[in-house]
Amino acid sequence: MNVIGQVTVLPQLPSVIGRLSELAYNLYWSWTPQAQDLYRDLDAAIWERFQHNPVRVLLEVSQERLTQAAADAEYVDRYTRVMADFDAYMQKRDTWASGHAPGLAPVAYFSMEYGLHESLPIYSGGLGVLAGDHCKSASDLGLPFTAVGMLFHQGYFRQLLNKEGWQEEAYDELDLTTLPLRPTHTAGGEEVRVKVQIGERDVHVRVWELAVGRIRVLLLDANVPENSEEDRKLTARLYGGNQELRIQQYVLLGVAGIRALRALNVPAGVYHMNEGHAALLGLERVRELVEGGLDFRTATETVASNTLFTTHTPVPAGNDAFAYDLVDRYLGQWPARLHTSREELYGLARQDQLWDGHWVPTFSMTVFALSMSRAANGVSELHGQVSRDMWKFLYEGAEAEEVPIGHVTNGAHNLTFTSQAMRDLLGTVLPQDWTERLQEEEMWQAVEELSDTQLADVQLDMKREMIAFVRRRLREQLTRNGAGAADLAAVEGVLSENALTIGFARRFATYKRATLLFRDRARLSRIVNDPARPVQFVFAGKAHPADNPGKAFIQEIYRMSQEPEFRGKIVILENYDMNVARHLVQGVDIWLNNPRRPLEASGTSGMKASFNGAPNFSVLDGWWREGYDGTNGWPIGEEREYADLNVQDDADAYSLYQTLENQIVPLYYAPPQADAGGRSGWAQTVRRAIQTVSPRFSMQRQVIDYVQGYYLPLTERGALLAAGGSQRAREIASWKSWVRQQWPHTSLHAAAQLPATARPGEKVEVQATVNPAGIKPGELRVEAVLKRGDHITRVPLEAQGDGKYSAQVPLEDSGLYSVGVRMLPEIEGLSNDLEAGLIKWA
Ligand SMILES: *Cc1c(COP(=O)(O)O)cnc(C)c1O
Repeated sequence: MNVIGQVTVLPQLPSVIGRLSELAYNLYWSWTPQAQDLYRDLDAAIWERFQHNPVRVLLEVSQERLTQAAADAEYVDRYTRVMADFDAYMQKRDTWASGHAPGLAPVAYFSMEYGLHESLPIYSGGLGVLAGDHCKSASDLGLPFTAVGMLFHQGYFRQLLNKEGWQEEAYDELDLTTLPLRPTHTAGGEEVRVKVQIGERDVHVRVWELAVGRIRVLLLDANVPENSEEDRKLTARLYGGNQELRIQQYVLLGVAGIRALRALNVPAGVYHMNEGHAALLGLERVRELVEGGLDFRTATETVASNTLFTTHTPVPAGNDAFAYDLVDRYLGQWPARLHTSREELYGLARQDQLWDGHWVPTFSMTVFALSMSRAANGVSELHGQVSRDMWKFLYEGAEAEEVPIGHVTNGAHNLTFTSQAMRDLLGTVLPQDWTERLQEEEMWQAVEELSDTQLADVQLDMKREMIAFVRRRLREQLTRNGAGAADLAAVEGVLSENALTIGFARRFATYKRATLLFRDRARLSRIVNDPARPVQFVFAGKAHPADNPGKAFIQEIYRMSQEPEFRGKIVILENYDMNVARHLVQGVDIWLNNPRRPLEASGTSGMKASFNGAPNFSVLDGWWREGYDGTNGWPIGEEREYADLNVQDDADAYSLYQTLENQIVPLYYAPPQADAGGRSGWAQTVRRAIQTVSPRFSMQRQVIDYVQGYYLPLTERGALLAAGGSQRAREIASWKSWVRQQWPHTSLHAAAQLPATARPGEKVEVQATVNPAGIKPGELRVEAVLKRGDHITRVPLEAQGDGKYSAQVPLEDSGLYSVGVRMLPEIEGLSNDLEAGLIKWA
């Protein structure tokens, strides 16, 4: 036809179900399956086609279907109940935060990626899902909280596996008008724009908002007509570009992120940088204060005083560091803007690295984040330890255990990943308000009351659903790759609901060793093909587009899955995302994780599986090192590291097979035991997994830990340093300048009377002579340090006048002690002993 114009007729919601549109714009639905069902039931095909996006359903559904639903009493009844729950959630006044953290300052949380739902593909893996889950629990707990991130209009990427099992990437342009996002507006009603200079260019940024329960996520978008074609691509892809694009994205996230908060008048008294990507927010905050009249160092003290940095990367190469010429190009104007020198500013981020055989200074995002915060943490106990070791070099003279990096072990958002069927079952034994008390360990004892049959029935349902999902996905993949009728028909036989089913899904970073299972193929084949006790595996995961070794892992698994001995028993699904994740963690019997210890900072997918009653089977790394208690799953390998990676892989693979053959498989297939009251050992493990992991590794526990361990102390410290025009910050800054200047002129000499051997409890005399130069003696801590193994004990020496210090130092235990004496400057109000960064050993 000859088109002279077009018009879209939007379906109109009948008033009885009129608030479906309001609900569609709040991600409350993303952890509420009953809310999702309201949209799915309007049009299941649209629901599936558009990644379960309620806004899209309401745009595409037929008017007739809406009218029909509005006349369906059962539908309206469900709608009414969901809306009542939603209202109760949104209007709740007596939240956890109101009772436990009434003084908490509003938190601004910055992250490069957010995994909130599959329809918003602005995450690559665990880091993003963690950030999304953090937002959800911040809402659940009633925290004053706003998150800031980036709106990548092509997302991360959609993964396709071709006929050879090689990963290909597709980049779909998101249609923002069909997503549960809205542009933000000023009080005057105009769309918010913030402007940020990147290099020589002014880049304009639109700010979108995403409602996540009671909190908001602000998303920055450079894809606006005011920008050049080049600049519009700054927010095209997550982790898509080279170093040059990365540093520009970091300027956007940090600097434009702060400006977005200001433009929207969002209050913030605590700033949380999730990974080093967000570190440049410190630049903009310092600029604000410098513009208000503060000097650079006072401004920096003020900014750092209420900032928390969470590090996630235990591999040096995973921490971004930029060459100075690149930094000059994109941050070159900042020293002048901040009234400081290039040397001083870059000094806060400096990490010397061996590049092409030469030591060169680089600008490290992690080092900058550590300099611009007064609290830092890793994401599991072991990762805290690894991080302290890794960044020890920044604290010259300090022992690793003193490095001020603590830990908060990660959690996952229970409701996002727990199936409705399991929720219903848990609801039969847990208190009525259990979803608000997830972190309470005693509450979960009641899971003991669930019978074997109740658990098995729900788990079988979840498994059937997962198998149907796997087959559907495989059919789509085969059809696209032009498979024949026989291959398509064979999909009907893929996976059996009666076989022990093991899931493995995550990013295919090589340290996660996705192919470890195949190290002894013959042995694996015997396990899988045991006629009486079969075992099957479901894999999924994306490799970063530039990671060819990771892609080779995917291909290896794909090829294995095509071998006659493994066909239909080992499968690999394409396009791992939150949707695939939910299906797998809910439908498998066991979750497998075998990273190369200690490189899995935490890991979280195993938690999600445990919430659904699939026990974790994993290397004792990250969270599992803390979570495994001998009854709630199984370990792989030992609590140690290896010098030879090949030896480590062999040992871990061996342990994996042994445990699978000798413990897991027999337990899974064993009949119920009469002496255990007719209960099976398997069901007991399932119960233990749910009981122990659900509270301790709930995101709710994690966020509460952040509030108590960091957000509340930073609230207080931030207020103290900022009071009276940053008076305390100014005192600390000038004190630090003074002691740093004096330090080279100080001296310390020490002596100890040490017998050749001693008895436990015996004391030894330690003496020191100090020249404090211009530093007040009261501001010097002189101490003996006893080191036994990796652990140190610090014993202060008493001033005896005239620069002399001494103490009787007890040797508490048996063993070899190394004794040293050191001094460090300290005053009241520092965040930790190493803050001045000065330690002198005798
Ligand atoms: C939970 C989750 C992850 C993290 O998995 P790990 O095993 O912790 O690496 C990655 N991707 C998605 C989609 C997830 O839901």
